[in-house]
Amino acid sequence: MKARHQLLIGGHWQPGEGPAFSKRDPVSDERLWEGAAASEAQVAAAVEAARAAFPAWARTPFAERQALVERFREALESHREDLATAIAHETGKPLWEARTEVGAMIGKVALSLRAYQERTGERERDLGDARAVLRHRPHGVMAVFGPYNFPGHLPNGHLVPALIAGNTAVFKPSEQTPLTADLVLQCWQQAGLPAGVINLVQGAAETGQALSADPGIDGLLFTGSARVGGLLHRQFAGQMDKILALELGGNNPLVVRDVPDQDAAVLAILQSAFLSGGQRCTCARRLILPEGQVGDHLLDALCDAVSRLHVAGQFSDPAPFYAGLVSVAAADGLLAAQEALESLGGTVLSRMERLVPGTSLLSPGVVDVTGLAVPDEEHFGPLLKVHRYRDWDEAIALANDTRYGLSAGLIGGERVDWDDFLLRIRAGIVNWNRQTTGASGDAPFGGVGESGNHRPSAFYAADYCAYPVASMESEDL
Ligand code: NAD
Repeated sequence: MKARHQLLIGGHWQPGEGPAFSKRDPVSDERLWEGAAASEAQVAAAVEAARAAFPAWARTPFAERQALVERFREALESHREDLATAIAHETGKPLWEARTEVGAMIGKVALSLRAYQERTGERERDLGDARAVLRHRPHGVMAVFGPYNFPGHLPNGHLVPALIAGNTAVFKPSEQTPLTADLVLQCWQQAGLPAGVINLVQGAAETGQALSADPGIDGLLFTGSARVGGLLHRQFAGQMDKILALELGGNNPLVVRDVPDQDAAVLAILQSAFLSGGQRCTCARRLILPEGQVGDHLLDALCDAVSRLHVAGQFSDPAPFYAGLVSVAAADGLLAAQEALESLGGTVLSRMERLVPGTSLLSPGVVDVTGLAVPDEEHFGPLLKVHRYRDWDEAIALANDTRYGLSAGLIGGERVDWDDFLLRIRAGIVNWNRQTTGASGDAPFGGVGESGNHRPSAFYAADYCAYPVASMESEDL
């Protein structure tokens, strides 16, 4: 499949008329996509096209909408390797991980169909002189914003349920991943997407602003940073007629209570902090460890494992644990964050370093910041902060000392400690004796605090893509 390097508006591919931009591979520097952002007028035209397509799509029988998404799944299957290659090159993630992402996209279609049918099927109750009927209706035109770290799977998780429910969409992918979006839209077209049902506008913050401010959208489904999510939340204040679903980042804690199995604990920490090079919203950013020997031994074992982690650029491994960050600039930002922690008094236990000059390849870093006032920030990369605690109450207080609340984890302890942790921790996704990364496709996914306002999952996505309409009906007057 070849990239089109264009926008898709009302079923027509067309060049962007906004500022030119391109995307390069953050490791090889190869140019992957080159085009131009959508102009304000093109964003408005995309919203208009989605609005024009909405009445017919909303009336299309469910079986036809289902058939379209199933053909889309087949198109994904037939372009698996093209998509995985694009995702790997654009995001810097290893090919094995990009293949897993495409697998998740494919799986999402069946999950979303089942969820829609289970939760939105027409329900009826006989009241004697009338029937009470519950139906679901699509909202209208959805603006879908993607982050860069799962450029296929995450926007897909909004677009597929939205379409199944009868909405139309304008999709604005991350400016870091235009190629993946380009190929995914071609898969939709191969499946027979009616003109205007999904429109693609490429570009960065300006394009996003033009879309989020467009009065023609009925809802905004956003996965991305807390910074941009907060901005959109303020922008939408008072607009009661629009839905706003925000899935944002976190400064996630992983608390160690005790260490029944050191190897298993080290593995869980590595997978929590460094999977995808730390570029997952659920990655642990803060390791909260007991003072004393138990914590000391675990920390030594962790630093030893970190120094041997197979990371692209360091060892020639065809399937490294993680590879590059999304861009050289993102890697620069992470190195600067490590320096800032050091200048605040942090002790670097494992130094994060650029492995190959001019690339986004970084080794993993571990910094002890115990007792220091460090900013409550999500460092979106392979950088783990360590805090030591004296007693359990301090451990919980440290874990909750954040404005976010996406994921959290507990290692060790008895069931009674786990129950206590679950009651007291402020987080939406909590794990015991396993990594913080990853979540069940069947469970709600989302955070509290500044990690978002929404908890969609395969089973709940239907709830925000369609609203219930209750009616009382009687055939005879
Ligand atoms: P980002 O917030 O920088 O960008 C997300 C989208 O918003 C992009 O399409 C971007 O172009 C757009 N955007 C940027 N500025 C904008 C503005 N001013 N107005 C409108 N749109 C704007 O996020 P990112 O760096 O691409 O992704 C990483 C972030 O996403 C991390 O914080 C991560 O934790 C979060 N994330 C959250 C989840 C979740 O499910 N909770 C999942 C994955 C990633």
